[in-house]
Amino acid sequence: MSDLILVLNAGSSSIKFEVFEGSALRLLWLGQMEGIGAAPHLLVRDAARRSLADRRWTTDDAPGDHAAALGIIMDWLKGVMTGRRVSSIGHRVVHGGPDFAAPVVITAAVLRRLEALVALAPLHQPHNLAGIRAAMEHFPGVPQVACFDTAFHRGHPWEADSFALPVEFYDRGIRRYGFHGLSYEYIARRLAAEDPALGRGRLVVAHLGNGASLCAIRDGRSLDSTMGFTALDGVPMGTRCGQIDPGVVLHLMQAEGMTPAEVARLLYKESGLKGLSGLSQDVRDLEASDRPEASRALSYFAWRVRREIGGMAAVLGGLDALVFTAGIGENAAGLRARICDGLGFLGISLDPQRNARGAAEISATATAVKVLVRHTDEERMIAEHVLATLAAGHAAAA
Ligand code: ADP
Repeated sequence: MSDLILVLNAGSSSIKFEVFEGSALRLLWLGQMEGIGAAPHLLVRDAARRSLADRRWTTDDAPGDHAAALGIIMDWLKGVMTGRRVSSIGHRVVHGGPDFAAPVVITAAVLRRLEALVALAPLHQPHNLAGIRAAMEHFPGVPQVACFDTAFHRGHPWEADSFALPVEFYDRGIRRYGFHGLSYEYIARRLAAEDPALGRGRLVVAHLGNGASLCAIRDGRSLDSTMGFTALDGVPMGTRCGQIDPGVVLHLMQAEGMTPAEVARLLYKESGLKGLSGLSQDVRDLEASDRPEASRALSYFAWRVRREIGGMAAVLGGLDALVFTAGIGENAAGLRARICDGLGFLGISLDPQRNARGAAEISATATAVKVLVRHTDEERMIAEHVLATLAAGHAAAA
């Protein structure tokens, strides 16, 4: 009977999942249950992205929580996985706090430690944990591994890990944790496999999706990242503001009387490309629009990303490659060109044709710095971690 690895990413009202087979990690199915608790919708596709299930619920039997939603995903899986079994489960967990620097097999004690981190990521961690609890209920005895968005950054030097607050705040966990670590780790490993010399080099990876950040990587390890205590800091995003003077937040509350909840909504949901343009958070809409606000929002985004590339290159003491990844990084050629425009002083120069067709290498020939476009795959990274973590556990137990 062949073994399946189920990878789960549980959000506030959705569970995304991917199923991999065997140690070669062949992707079999990927899907999501959205609208949990409201208007649930299950979509499943195979590796060739052909639709296998597309079901909506409007009646009383609609799954109302993560456990019910996972039950439906499981029922679907059981119908297709004949002759195979789910032998392990990997969970995406946003926050591993100061201590989890690697994936970990989930035990009752680990779950308690993850619960203690809810205060650090109240918008995400509770949903991640609901997904873990639901999976433990449905798969008793199946080993489960938590993989953290923060773990890859835990080797940061203290200067990159700290705010200039009195040191007791650092000890209380008020630190620059950094996020998107699974994506950065995936990219760093793939580049090292493709080109070991580059893998040991100085990389700036720009993960530009709905959430966006940059990471400075040297010798395969994260040295600094633009995201801080939360996933709000750094470059502007679809609806998040990115770096902002904390004095603005104080002003909004003290002088304008906004409540913390109102400020949170503003910074997380109404800012970024959406707030700047007043039109959309989606780069495709902004590129298609002839409104000046759309162009200005894209210029702002490019400006801030360019600024951070410079900062990351300074931290690394130079640059061997700049890598674009995630929805915007992989697809938005125009924005990549805007970002790189003016970075010639760093040795960055694009080949317009290669950039336009989204080639794997988009830098002009004979430039000092390679500019690359790579697809990121956080779910596969999680599946790789599940295999490695369980193999290490078995080796330790043997
Ligand atoms: P998430 O952070 O939710 O995983 P993605 O990495 O999928 O997001 O990125 C989603 C964003 O990528 C979209 O909002 C859109 O702005 C951008 N995007 C996707 N495809 C294209 C495209 N063909 N051209 C320009 N932008 C794109």
